[in-house]
Amino acid sequence: MAPGPTSRKLDRTRNIGVAAHIDAGKTTVSERFLFYSGRIHKIGDIDAGDTQLDYMPQERERGITITAAATTFPWRNHEIHLIDTPGHVDFTIEVERSLRVLDGAIIVFSAVDGVEPQSETVWHQADKFHVPRLAFVNKMDRLGADFDAVVEQIRSRLGARPCPVQLPLGAEDGFEGAIDLLERKMVRFTGEETDAPEVSDLEPAFAAQAEAARDRMIEAVADVDDALAEQYLGGEPIDAEALRAAIRRATVAGKIVPVLCGAALRNMGVQPLLDAVVDWLPSPADVPPIHGVKPGTEEVESRPPDEKAPFAALAFKVAMFEGRKTVFLRVYSGALHAGDDVFNPRLGKPGSHQRMEKVARLFQLHADRREKIDKAGPGTIVAAVGLKEASTGDTLCDPRHPILLERIDTYEPVISSAIEAESSADKDKLDEALLKLVDEDPTFKTHEDAETGQTIIRGMGELHLDIIRDRLVREFNVNVRLGRPQVVYRETVARASEGDARFERLVSRTFLDGGKQKAGADKPGDEMMVFGAARVKVAPRPRGTGTSLKAALPPPPPGTQDKAQRQLDAIVQATLEGAREAMRSGPAGYPMEDIDVTLLAVEPREGMTAEAAALGARIAGSEAFRRALDGADVKMLEPIMHMEVVVPEEFMGAVVGDLNARRAQIEDLGYRGNKRTVVAKVPLKAVFGYATAVRSATQGRATFTMRFHAYDAWG
Ligand code: GDP
Ligand code: MG
Repeated sequence: MAPGPTSRKLDRTRNIGVAAHIDAGKTTVSERFLFYSGRIHKIGDIDAGDTQLDYMPQERERGITITAAATTFPWRNHEIHLIDTPGHVDFTIEVERSLRVLDGAIIVFSAVDGVEPQSETVWHQADKFHVPRLAFVNKMDRLGADFDAVVEQIRSRLGARPCPVQLPLGAEDGFEGAIDLLERKMVRFTGEETDAPEVSDLEPAFAAQAEAARDRMIEAVADVDDALAEQYLGGEPIDAEALRAAIRRATVAGKIVPVLCGAALRNMGVQPLLDAVVDWLPSPADVPPIHGVKPGTEEVESRPPDEKAPFAALAFKVAMFEGRKTVFLRVYSGALHAGDDVFNPRLGKPGSHQRMEKVARLFQLHADRREKIDKAGPGTIVAAVGLKEASTGDTLCDPRHPILLERIDTYEPVISSAIEAESSADKDKLDEALLKLVDEDPTFKTHEDAETGQTIIRGMGELHLDIIRDRLVREFNVNVRLGRPQVVYRETVARASEGDARFERLVSRTFLDGGKQKAGADKPGDEMMVFGAARVKVAPRPRGTGTSLKAALPPPPPGTQDKAQRQLDAIVQATLEGAREAMRSGPAGYPMEDIDVTLLAVEPREGMTAEAAALGARIAGSEAFRRALDGADVKMLEPIMHMEVVVPEEFMGAVVGDLNARRAQIEDLGYRGNKRTVVAKVPLKAVFGYATAVRSATQGRATFTMRFHAYDAWG
């Protein structure tokens, strides 16, 4: 058994991610990391579909990375946990999940294409989670590579403070390596994967240029770092060590972004990038303690990255490996041992025995291979087997010191499709496989259509559902038919309206008990009266504000007994619950959104058991809500996407014309280098199949990104 990650010191750990616009070279860079760290002995070739990190067959075929694969490798006596993040917009949630648990990131840019729409999205996600980062300008060997232009775009388009720490040596065919501005050394690469970088003293021909660049770098850092500023203004010579320390402080604080260059495919510039990860990206000890609340309260709790502190971890991903549910964890504090019982606050109160779950085994991950470990300390990213209930976003903690960490945002699916097994024999297999996929992926949902009995799957986009279909066929051996994709609409109301309902009926006690009474107890005549009455008001809310549900009842008459008040409270809660359930499916069967629901009146009645009162209240609440909708002018809302297209000038007209025909609202037409950009809002329904359409309209020369913007009524 391996010694486990805690045998290394915390400050020798790095949790990093590599993110970029699709095709910028994340996977190539990550693969080189594994190779140069000695983790793999052969460089997989992405174009030949044989890489370690893109391990799902669909990813290999499509050449894209879907599942963020976690992997660990050593560099300069440090332990680096790497998460490869996907680039496709349908999988934005994966990127967010990864960023949430990482301490630092490398953003890869193409030296030819610069800052592309997806890199902007990723950049802003990293801003949201305050992730310090490095920029790597890749593809310096390609025709049109322009390092300075990319640096400038990072400044102007991303609003960041880029700090080049290298000066490229040549570009395109003539790209050789870089000048290390800290050390004043030339670093050249032969391009052979097994050759070490050739390091030599600064050649006189480059001296002036390099010194000027070094001064600019020092100024940029001194601008945000007082210690260096003092040294610099005092006229002291600044050595590489002082500079390295200052760059670390400024990077960890998120004030600058060191920029490096290379050509990963040609094995150029990768080792210096790894050095930069170790030198400048934060260790788990550098990041502030994680905050959460005491479960069930608003009391803030925090946990330092200390092995002696109580155990706390966040489950950020659930996947099936070799048929077993595997939960990916980031440990924030304390230590987790194989065999430990952990507490999941989402599932119940501490102390109740069944709410504890056992971590049977712990693994360190290497793409699709895993290595058993016996202990995981703070700052580590590990996979746990044995947890049955844990799902993405859950906190796992020490039952004696419960804490609830902030959940990871999830997104509601916007597209649906009917699915069925090709043979009826496969039906059960399909149901079982879908359950597993839902468990893994918080953006994937399934349900049975009440009217047709069909199984409906829902997801984040066409590609998402397509990948699900592929996985069903390959991993689960179920052949399936998918219906045409449908938009998942929402419903809302255009005006305020009220509705009343009364419910009164005899119901059998067995039914009320949920069938818990002994058989035979259900004698004829063993029935009881269930009663409930409610008045509910619905009203519109501004777009994108969600729903609110509250009670506004007249105050109880003075002298109301405590017991009567408690009974009334229970009835109010049950009535609201009934209305909440009804909101899940409006008149056309879609979830209701942007509405205010107010409970105006209930009618308690003596002589009922608590169950009977609650059942009556729920039914009345649901019915009153539906009646209120009758006069509320229900409207459909559809998913509207934010779309950005980058296209050569000659195809600009075709792209804009096509978008107009798709009911798009064009918001901005701009320039990006020698290309044009189009920013638009467009209904999802109108852009089914857009990838194919835009490819054929532009001879494959356009790139686009699309993300969910809002639900809205669209002309
Ligand atoms: P990802 O989508 O960001 O993971 O990008 P990949 O790593 O899959 O690379 C996309 C394409 O760019 C592949 O065809 C790579 O071979 C190619 N590529 C990656 N790095 C370089 C590079 O440094 N130079 C050149 N010329 N091509 C590269
Ligand atoms: Mg990739």
